[in-house]
Amino acid sequence: MKIMLASPRGFCAGVERAIEIVTRALKIYGAPVYVRHEVVHNKTVVADLREQGAVFVQEVEDVPRNGLVIFSAHGVSREVKRRAEERNLRVFDATCPLVTKVHLEVAKAAREGRDTILIGHAGHPEVEGTLGQYDREDGRAAVGRATNGRVADIHLVEKVADVEQLSLGDPDRVSYVTQTTLSVDDASAIIASLRQRYPDVVGPSKNDICYATQNRQDAVKKLAQASDLILVVGSANSSNSNRLREIAERLGTASFLIDDESEIRPEWLVGRKVIGVTSGASAPETLVSGVIEHLRAAGGEFLGEQGGVSEDMTFSLPQELRNHDSLRHNQR
Ligand code: SF4
Repeated sequence: MKIMLASPRGFCAGVERAIEIVTRALKIYGAPVYVRHEVVHNKTVVADLREQGAVFVQEVEDVPRNGLVIFSAHGVSREVKRRAEERNLRVFDATCPLVTKVHLEVAKAAREGRDTILIGHAGHPEVEGTLGQYDREDGRAAVGRATNGRVADIHLVEKVADVEQLSLGDPDRVSYVTQTTLSVDDASAIIASLRQRYPDVVGPSKNDICYATQNRQDAVKKLAQASDLILVVGSANSSNSNRLREIAERLGTASFLIDDESEIRPEWLVGRKVIGVTSGASAPETLVSGVIEHLRAAGGEFLGEQGGVSEDMTFSLPQELRNHDSLRHNQR
């Protein structure tokens, strides 16, 4: 049994930044630091931060008035920001800059009075946050341009069949954005269908799927072709990790999503010749090492990485956290 690792895999720049924001906030301000929603979708990361004093809450109303809250990498709606302000919370925003970019596209479309299609998965926090960027007041202000008496709005589309169900005020004034962690292939099919129904639809040149999602999907495609089992290290609620597992499976390679090596079932390994391992953008490398060690202990020979593109993306931290040494000094 051979073992191969996908490259790139694991942490992306947005996840690194989000974790660093919580860690630095804990160092500077001390526990507890409140975090709205899991800062990134990984059980181990969340447990580590919880141990350091982070308190994960579902809503800003769960944070004491005048307290400190961090918004997760997935982003939040304008309404959540407003409620945080109402409670006089000090906010550090760990929204990934690539999600913020999508937020800005949605806000612009609303100002232009365009019906906007968000391609994404219902219920995912990123989708909730992005839907919540569309200012209907802006849409109303542009009502003169809407037809059939309808005001422009934002609409969620999850699959190609949903495109047929759309009923828009002005089919000539339509734009689209996408969730950042979709399957590139699924998103392309939906965009093609949108273009067919609304030839003047405007949007990003391809989609808003981020570099990290795209690179990890390309890498797992290559690895799946050379493997008869793919193990994806990532948590069940991690969108980009789930997409990696699906992609391998669609290519006909058995694939399982695991949080760590303790979830590997012995029967999965029986008769396998090549096992490929990868990890989602929120999964720490220590967990991948644990999986490799487990497979080696089960008799596997580690062949190393199957190379892909190298990544050097970094995102800067909020100013106050960057200068945390001087800030600590001022607090004394
Ligand atoms: Fe940002 Fe992409 Fe990472 Fe999400 S997966 S945090 S969008 S870089």
